[in-house]
Amino acid sequence: MAGAVLTVSVLGLLSTLTPAQGEVRPLARAEPPKVRAAPRPAAPPKPPPPDCARAKCLALTFDDGPAESTAELLDILDARRVRATFFIVGENAAKHPELVRRELEAGHEIADHSYTHADLGRASHKKIMDELTRTQDAIRRASGVTPTLLRPPYGSTSERLTKITRELGLAQVLWTVDPLDWEHRDTAYVEKRVLKAARPGYIVLMHDIHPTSVKAVPKIIDRLAAEGYVFVTVPELFGGRLAPGKEYVQRESGDPQGLP
Ligand SMILES: [Zn+2]
Repeated sequence: MAGAVLTVSVLGLLSTLTPAQGEVRPLARAEPPKVRAAPRPAAPPKPPPPDCARAKCLALTFDDGPAESTAELLDILDARRVRATFFIVGENAAKHPELVRRELEAGHEIADHSYTHADLGRASHKKIMDELTRTQDAIRRASGVTPTLLRPPYGSTSERLTKITRELGLAQVLWTVDPLDWEHRDTAYVEKRVLKAARPGYIVLMHDIHPTSVKAVPKIIDRLAAEGYVFVTVPELFGGRLAPGKEYVQRESGDPQGLP
């Protein structure tokens, strides 16, 4: 009983605090704000790629993903408006299709790095076909895009692989700068190695599966950008489409080196 009296008196007190005495103000019926169906944000128009015959171009490439750490790398690249090339392991594409899609939507080049990270240079015809077609399929399923570049794991190639890549429409992309980031899981070491070795026209190899390497990327980009470097995808580095079967290590001269 005492409880009920207390409740009533508290309510009475509360009512004296309301601004308009005796007047029951209907709760403001907030009209739902008229929200137009938000148009899907259009992908920002791609700026024309720089002319790497004149600009100090560098191609950052990331192998073996996608993995959890790839998401952080994509944020880092987005924040700096830098595009890179991802050499994707097929079984990881099947595990993280959403990251493959994100790579593509951000304007990065997505490429083949075999299905199981196999040594393709020593593999049979059947094994090579299996590794490559399964990866192409996994990337296509994730993103709708079929890669035109292959980086053979370990840089291990052969005449047989060259012939098959020519038939499958895949150019072979190797690299010029290797900071051995898989061995040295040390951010400062990776930064130093890449910053020291970078030259215009080079292709830098790193691994987005190692968080230590991902953490090296901001400084690498910021330092090299301050030196006038621009970051391009591998096809942009060579000024166009690459020839299937052919091996590419770095841009050799000022002349365009891609196919028209
Ligand atoms: Zn690899």
